[in-house]
Order: sequence, then structure tokens, then C-alpha cells
Amino acid sequence: MSEMEQRQVPVLYLVVPCYNEEEVVEKSASVMGDKIRRLEREGKIAKGSKIMFVNDGSKDKTLYLLHQIAEADKMFSVVSLAGNYGHQSAILAGMMTARQYADAVVTIDADLQQDIEALDHFLARYMDGCEVVYGVRNDRHSDGFFKKATATAYYKLMHMLGSTVMTNHADYRLMSKKALNALAEYKETNLFLRGLIPTMGFPSDVVYFDVKAREAGHSKYTLSKMMTLALDGITSMSVRPLRLIAGLGFLVCIFSFVMCIISLVDWVNGNNVPGYTTTLIVTLMLGGITLLSLGIIGEYVGKIYMETKHRPRYIIDTLVWREDAQEDR
Ligand code: UDP
Ligand code: MG
Repeated sequence: MSEMEQRQVPVLYLVVPCYNEEEVVEKSASVMGDKIRRLEREGKIAKGSKIMFVNDGSKDKTLYLLHQIAEADKMFSVVSLAGNYGHQSAILAGMMTARQYADAVVTIDADLQQDIEALDHFLARYMDGCEVVYGVRNDRHSDGFFKKATATAYYKLMHMLGSTVMTNHADYRLMSKKALNALAEYKETNLFLRGLIPTMGFPSDVVYFDVKAREAGHSKYTLSKMMTLALDGITSMSVRPLRLIAGLGFLVCIFSFVMCIISLVDWVNGNNVPGYTTTLIVTLMLGGITLLSLGIIGEYVGKIYMETKHRPRYIIDTLVWREDAQEDR
């Protein structure tokens, strides 16, 4: 990079994905609105900064409430997707819309779990020249032993299988216009932002924040959505599982070669014992390994299949935007 240029105070857009969040959106809007106004007063962000809600096909009153919020205050705008595309696609839709107007975008959950006061630190890092700033949750002291252990095991496994995911980072992140324009060049359908963005490069830093309890409502990440995300996190970032299969196949080959020799020696020596148990174990084990391997390969074939379709990753139904919002920049 050439000499670091002096940065201007940015126009900041907060991108907030919402899926069935009728219990929290009003509270969130007021907390986030206050924060943006305060940052503006303190000269940490430029005038014209905004909060952009992304309605991810909510089935409750969320969209209605968001319309009301945007109607009342031009600081708020709403991108409404045609259906439920999931958290990753929702924030992508928000970021891709916001990058046209913003110098920096921060994605944050609608439930106020992620400490909004961390924004000051995000902005400070941005002013230092970072193009990406990752929010990483502080030590999981609020979690129980089980949650802590599974989370640690999850990140260990992800790294072992070749994923570039950042430990304890869950899409609370700042990206500059430059980084967003680069992200726009990634056309893949299977998008795993947490793994993809660290591979892009760019000067980046980490900001630590505390996680609070959900303000209201319940988690919209069902177990199956979480499993899908975890699997995508591996298969969309790495082919290491395929290599492991090849390695496993190699080991099984060596094992069977040794077994062949032992059996032949036994046969020559006349020790031809009836080996029901051995046969059963070997058959079952090989059957299991074969099916598992096929499943893993199938997962990748499925990914290729979806990629070749080049389907849009989200469809925007409506954009609620006050025309006068741009004028007082
Ligand atoms: N979300 C979304 N689409 C979905 C599921 C979730 O936009 O299909 C949003 C949700 O409204 C919230 C954020 O993603 O703003 C994180 O979801 P949640 O808080 O339910 O997950 P958790 O914090 O429990 O992991
Ligand atoms: Mg949450």
C-alpha cells in the first residue's frame, strides 16, 4: 500500500438484518438512532449517516413497523427482500445497497445483543486506515460450560478442516467502501462472509465487545439453520475434507494390503479359521467409510450444482427511502 492517506470522517450506514423481529425493532431503532446522532454530534461520523434495516421476508409485523419507523425519521431506511434468504444474504443485500451511499458500513444484529458502544472503536480503527474491522466477542463468561465447550470445539474443527473463519466473530463488522466494492466482485452463490472476508486481504483489525442477552424475542437461528451455516463454513471455504477422504482411502488400502498378506500366510500354513466377526467388522466399516465419503463428495457436487445456476443471492422487493434524505449531506 502507498502512503496512508488522511481519512475523512465517514458517512456511516448501519445495516441491520431483521427476520420476525417485531418485539425488538422499535427499541433497536431508538437505541441505534440515539447512537448515530451522538456519533454525529461528536464529529465521529459525517452528516447523512443512516440506519438501513433489511427485512428478510418476515412473516410478522416487522415490515409494517419498519415502514412506520422510516416514515417518522429520515435517518432510517428499509430494504425489503422478496422472501427469507437467510442472515448472510440479508446482510449482503444491505451492504450492497448501502455501499453506493456510505463510506463505511457496519453490520449489526437487530436484537441489540452486540454492544453498540463498540462503534466508537470500529470508527477509530477505520480512521487509522483499516478497511475491515472485526467485532470479536469477549470471553464467553456469560455462557455456560456446555456452550463454551461446543463453541471452542466448533472453531477448532473449522480451522482443522481448512475454514478461514474468525474465532468468536459473528458478522458484527465494519467494512469500508473499498472493501465492499471488492466484496461485490465475489459472485459465488454459497456465501460465507465470516470466512470469505478474511481471505480478501486489506488492512484490518479486531475490536472486542461484550455480548448481552437478547433484548426481546427469541433466536431466529434454528438448529438446522445453524448446522447449515456450520457446514457451509467448511465446504464453501475449503476442499480439505476431500483430501481427508483421499488420505483415508490410502490408509484403508495399506491396511487391506497387510491383511491380504496375513491371510495368505495363514492359508499357506493351513490356519484357515472361520472369520465371521472379522469379515462383518471389515464389511461394515468399509461400507460406513464409503457412504460417508460419498456424502461429503455429494455435498461438494451440490455446491457446484448451485453455483452453476448463477441464481441471484437475494431479490429486493422494495426500498423505502426518503428522497430528502440525501440533501442535507
Ligand atoms: N436473521 C435474518 N434472517 C434469518 C435469521 C436471522 O435476517 O433467516 C437476523 C435476525 O433478525 C437477527 C440476526 O439475523 O438480526 C441474528 O439472528 P439471531 O439473533 O436470531 O441469532 P443468534 O444471535 O441467536 O445467533
Ligand atoms: Mg442474536
